[in-house]
Amino acid sequence: MDDELIPIAALNQYDYCPHRCWRMFCLGEFAENVYTLEGTGLHERVHGGEISTLEGVEQYRTVELVSYCHGLIGKADLIERHAGVWVPVEYKRGTKGEWGNDRIQVCAQGLCLEEMLGVTVPNGAVYYAATGRRETFSLDLTLRTRTVEVIALVRELLRTGQEPLARVMPRCKGCSLYDACLPTAGERVRNYRERWE
Ligand code: SF4
Repeated sequence: MDDELIPIAALNQYDYCPHRCWRMFCLGEFAENVYTLEGTGLHERVHGGEISTLEGVEQYRTVELVSYCHGLIGKADLIERHAGVWVPVEYKRGTKGEWGNDRIQVCAQGLCLEEMLGVTVPNGAVYYAATGRRETFSLDLTLRTRTVEVIALVRELLRTGQEPLARVMPRCKGCSLYDACLPTAGERVRNYRERWE
């Protein structure tokens, strides 16, 4: 069964860009840039493996997660318990996520917790370090449906290893794999061929 479990982090990458997910999880590529370095530092600070209580809220850091129903494995930065209600919290560098991919990751963590603890996890949160803001959101049907869809897409990607095409998007700007991917190269070659062939 273990070989069928897919990493929760891959869902976030796939929702950001399927080609990036392919590079990271099929080719094993990973390039550091200023954003990933900041993110790594942040996660090192967050991951203490501690249990603490803050203003009546129980906090569990670096929690191993698994879901056999959804075939997921991963780790949560922080799990909180507010008056009996469990809330997964992901820590990210930067400001509010623009693309929604962070929410997919948190929703997948919620699905794991529901299965592991036999509870309902109604909400999740992302803490953005650059602004110190915490965004709490509902793990509603729309988000759950999209998360389950992305799980299936990632599973298929990992099974086939088939490369999704790179295409230029505004989010390429912050992508650490830009130099390896060169998303404009394919389009340039096509334009060149149309012009000269
Ligand atoms: S540069 Fe753009 S297309 Fe290439 S992996 Fe990054 S986000 Fe995806």
